[in-house]
Amino acid sequence: MTPELIVTATLIAATFIYVLLCWILPFGRCHACSGTGTRTTLLLRRVTFCRRCKGSGLRLRIGRRVYNAVADARAQADTAARAKDGAR
Ligand SMILES: [Zn+2]
Repeated sequence: MTPELIVTATLIAATFIYVLLCWILPFGRCHACSGTGTRTTLLLRRVTFCRRCKGSGLRLRIGRRVYNAVADARAQADTAARAKDGAR
């Protein structure tokens, strides 16, 4: 096996695993609050809910966000094509 083949196979495997992860577990832990849903304010050290995840402690993975955007664009294109065909 050549080194290029090993690198390519590793990248393909990593991509496949990430896609599988985004399909099975679309939500990951929030980076801002480490999944707790609460944060302390910078000045007064008060405990408030995390604004980034709105207190849930979860965030949508980037891969799943991309998939959702593509699926929405496809659905809008289908709706527009159907409306265009129906108008004739
Ligand atoms: Zn959070």
